Amino acid sequence: MTEHVEQLEFQAEARQLLNLMVHSVYSNKDSFLRELISNASDALDKLRLEAFRNKDLDVDTSDLHIEIDIDKAARTLTIRDNGIGMTRNEVVGLIGTLAKSGTAEVRQQLKDAQNAAASEELIGQFGIGFYSSFMVADKVTLLTRKAGESSATRWESRGEGTYTVAGVDDAPQGTAVTLHLKPEDTEDELHDYTSEWKIRSLVKQYSDFISWPIRMQVERRSPATEDGREEQVTIEAETVNSMKALWTRPKDEVSQEEYTEFYKHIAHAWDDPLEVIPMKAEGTFEYQALLFIPSHAPFDLFQQDARVGVQLYVRRVFIMADCEELLPPYLRFVKGVVDAADMSLNVSREILQQDRQIKAIRRRLTKRVLSTIADMQKERPADYRTFWVQFGRVLKEGLLSDADNKDMLLAVSSFASTHSDEEPTTLAQYVERMKDGQDQIFYAAGESRQQLLSSPHLEAFKANGYEVLLLTDPVDEVWVDMVPEFDGKRLQSVAKGEVDLSAEEETSEAERSQLEQEFAGLLEWLKETLSDHVKEVRLSTRLTESPACLITDSFGITPALARMLAASGQTVPSEKRILELNPGHPLIAGLRDAFASRGGDPGLTETAELLYGTALLAEGGTLDDPAKFAGLLAERLARTI
Ligand code: ADP
Ligand code: MG
Repeated sequence: MTEHVEQLEFQAEARQLLNLMVHSVYSNKDSFLRELISNASDALDKLRLEAFRNKDLDVDTSDLHIEIDIDKAARTLTIRDNGIGMTRNEVVGLIGTLAKSGTAEVRQQLKDAQNAAASEELIGQFGIGFYSSFMVADKVTLLTRKAGESSATRWESRGEGTYTVAGVDDAPQGTAVTLHLKPEDTEDELHDYTSEWKIRSLVKQYSDFISWPIRMQVERRSPATEDGREEQVTIEAETVNSMKALWTRPKDEVSQEEYTEFYKHIAHAWDDPLEVIPMKAEGTFEYQALLFIPSHAPFDLFQQDARVGVQLYVRRVFIMADCEELLPPYLRFVKGVVDAADMSLNVSREILQQDRQIKAIRRRLTKRVLSTIADMQKERPADYRTFWVQFGRVLKEGLLSDADNKDMLLAVSSFASTHSDEEPTTLAQYVERMKDGQDQIFYAAGESRQQLLSSPHLEAFKANGYEVLLLTDPVDEVWVDMVPEFDGKRLQSVAKGEVDLSAEEETSEAERSQLEQEFAGLLEWLKETLSDHVKEVRLSTRLTESPACLITDSFGITPALARMLAASGQTVPSEKRILELNPGHPLIAGLRDAFASRGGDPGLTETAELLYGTALLAEGGTLDDPAKFAGLLAERLARTI
């Protein structure tokens, strides 16, 4: 039978897109392979479904697979599948026109894309699909036979406006796409696609988890033997991809070892995952996800250039590693895979940032990770402890940025406290232990547990048996300002504002005003004398042992926070604090008497300086002029020996 070859024209928009491909400067030319494999995989999916629905369909589905053949001599690369195939009309309709969902958009953008950069962007943005073959081939031949039909179709084009179609009598069922490769040009990112090694590594990189076998012909050579047998060369088909799309399998069908192996593979990790989170969502935004919480924090968790994010797949085709858009930054330790159902294979980062679907997925993943941590906290306390030690500091960043999940974040957080040296506490546990009449959650924030425990601010709380949270992570200074309360209880710093420990207070109102009167003169004078350092001097209710301490206003910036902000390059107004005196301390009482009897004595001014300096040192602060302080102190000491 003579072939009847028909020449047809591409639809206008298709022609434009083809033109872009043929003259492409797009650097990721390798992606043609992933597009063709993705089409083949879709075709196999379709055939399996069709055979299932239509029992009369006469097809063999026992060995569905994809095959890649390299012909070095002819410089061709063929991607073959025994999937659903296409009729002649389908070939013309699907391949000859732009059958994309986003056609209107593509059309507009094609009109606008006048220069190379714009077209590169365009290729990057839209599913480039079958036409991407023309980035690497100057002629493409497609031979296809639809499942259940006897005749086949050959389609051929140089990507220049026209293509030919011809009926063919016999061809294997399915589709074979043969690329007549352009010459290698590494400067143009055009690699040697006749290299078995190159193709193999591209398959591994982009299509490893395709659930159908991708086979390649390999030559096996067995050397000549001494007893005279000649060298033998056999050709064998080898499966290149692992096909292990674990995220598509139900949890109870996958072993822990498989999950662990997979985690190590995709996260490039060496530890075992602490938690495996398989997810499947149906409905408007269909996706499957498999997330892991590692058991060890990577060394670069707090470095700017760390690789974070999960892998993004679209229908089992690898799209990108480190997709940051799928989880908030405070969950950057989570590893895994998200496989979305309805997304362009060539989706770009710019698109991802805007995409409604990505945003919806991100919300769901976030909630799921947090609820998993909550479950772990309830059911596996030891694992939760490990988690908190490794990632607690990162998770708390969420208190600054994720208002929607604030309550959940507070619930799964735990903190060191004066209640126990070893066991951290949750806020709920703290609230349960609160004393009668206590209506605030007290905390101290600073650099180390030791420093906080010995700070004068804690004295009265210790003396009166109030539990105080000891917050020592840099982020603590910030979130405590943004989270006003937990369970209706205000968070109150022991070093800020006025504290009301009146439930325990021994001094009565009358005694109190008596003291105020006795000290009025001293307080006034100190305020003036130390006006370079403090804005107010008052009597304290929080001191039992130390003579004095420094307090920040309720809404003021603590020195530690100021240091942090300064370190991150922000300018912070320097803020004066409040000096609080312990009227029961001999030094303060003595100072009051000395001031009453010899008010003008310059020695008293030095005592005031020393008092201020001591208060600063006691809380772990740094003196403005350490040499002056040391001089004054040495002089005093000399007089006492
Ligand atoms: P997309 O895959 O996003 O639809 P493509 O340009 O990759 O876009 O492919 C266009 C259409 O051509 C596909 O939707 C499919 O119907 C058809 N097609 C492409 N390759 C094959 C194949 N190997 N087997 C069957 N149909 C195919
Ligand atoms: Mg495609």
